[in-house]
Amino acid sequence: MKLTRRISLILLLVVFFSGTLIAVLATESTSNAFDEYINESYNVMLGEWGKVFASYYVQNDYQWQGVERLFIVDLQSAVILSDLSGQILYHYDKDFIGENIPLHLFRRGYPLQLNGETIAILYPAALFSDTLLDLEKSFLQTTIFAVIKGTVFTSLFILVIGLGLSVSITTPLKDLIRATKRMARGKFDEPLPVYSNDEIGDLARSFNTMAQELEKGIELRKQMTADISHELRTPLTVLANKLEMSLEQNRPLTTEDTVILYDEVIRLRGLVNELHDMSKLEAGHLSIEKTLIDFHQYFEEFFFLLEAEAESRQMTLDIQLAENLPVCYADAKRLKQIVLNLVNNAFRYTPDGGKVTIKADYDADNFIIEVTDSGIGIAAEDLPYIFERFYRADRSRDRETGGSGLGLAITKALVEAHNGIITVVSEVDKGSVFTVKLPLWQEEQEA
Ligand code: ADP
Repeated sequence: MKLTRRISLILLLVVFFSGTLIAVLATESTSNAFDEYINESYNVMLGEWGKVFASYYVQNDYQWQGVERLFIVDLQSAVILSDLSGQILYHYDKDFIGENIPLHLFRRGYPLQLNGETIAILYPAALFSDTLLDLEKSFLQTTIFAVIKGTVFTSLFILVIGLGLSVSITTPLKDLIRATKRMARGKFDEPLPVYSNDEIGDLARSFNTMAQELEKGIELRKQMTADISHELRTPLTVLANKLEMSLEQNRPLTTEDTVILYDEVIRLRGLVNELHDMSKLEAGHLSIEKTLIDFHQYFEEFFFLLEAEAESRQMTLDIQLAENLPVCYADAKRLKQIVLNLVNNAFRYTPDGGKVTIKADYDADNFIIEVTDSGIGIAAEDLPYIFERFYRADRSRDRETGGSGLGLAITKALVEAHNGIITVVSEVDKGSVFTVKLPLWQEEQEA
């Protein structure tokens, strides 16, 4: 059943049942109130009759025999007396004596008490007359009619409100269904209209955000596939051309060719490794196993690699490791990858003869690694994007520098996997400073 109909039906049922309940309760309480009113209005008289009957009862040795002959001048036709079982003892119409009080009147009598004990029940004679019953009946009818009228009007009112309410709920839901169907067909162009500022509005807003993120993700995936194939195509073309030439001309590869082919294969391997890291990082599958690292000793293990590179390019490599460095709490293999990525970039984007500085220091909360170079720097408009996958500040230079555009994206993801942050300050033609901050080891982390 459609939601609109279901909501309206539920509201109607609620109104119907509560209307019926109100009618039953109102009838009962009206009839009780009517009785009370009648009794109240006859109470003084009943009290007087009570006294007469009680004194008769006492004088007659606590028995009712002969009470029907009791002659009460003024009240003769105003009172009826029954015993506790409902048998009439006194009635202004003698024919009724010995009969039973009608059941519906039985509970409505006035208990006549003597020394705290009920000895009989008194009824105002008016209770037995049709006039009073008719009056009560019509009073009840008016009440019930008022309740029914109220219920019908409330139902109509609720029906209108219910329809309005269900339309206001179902319209955004219908929009949502249409939008998800459009999305399933790959169309993200139309955002959902936001009708209100409540939970339904929030749902539409978060749906729109989700759609935007999905679209971005799809675009990114497309871009990535294009970038990856572009990256693979260039070295593969070089490889294919060289091999083709050698085959066509039926001559073995020269040493020079082999070096070129080897470089391209190394580049391909590097790219595949980076892609592998990237996909693992994105899927959250890259495990980070942190240990306590003595940075001085650790750095020495790969320092010579950097020195050799600097020397071959007549560059100054300045190492500044603070004396009393605390232990660095990181995954040793990944930390090396972070440092090497930054230092290799510094070498890559600094002309021969320049300077690269590696600093390790700390503050109250972090272990800090800083890589500074005197290289080409990064333009302000590129800075926000250099940590994105495949982003290169100057695409025409990429083959020359040999980068894939994945290095900084991986570095950033690795730093973040350590709960750290990476920042950059750079100026074109002056150089760049990359700073990595990793949270210091805290004793409770080990617990
Ligand atoms: P790549 O493999 O191209 O170096 P990265 O992700 O490591 O890719 O870097 C992204 C881009 O950021 C580079 O293409 C380059 O334009 C810029 N970049 C990174 N490091 C430096 C640096 N030290 N100096 C100048 N530009 C840099």
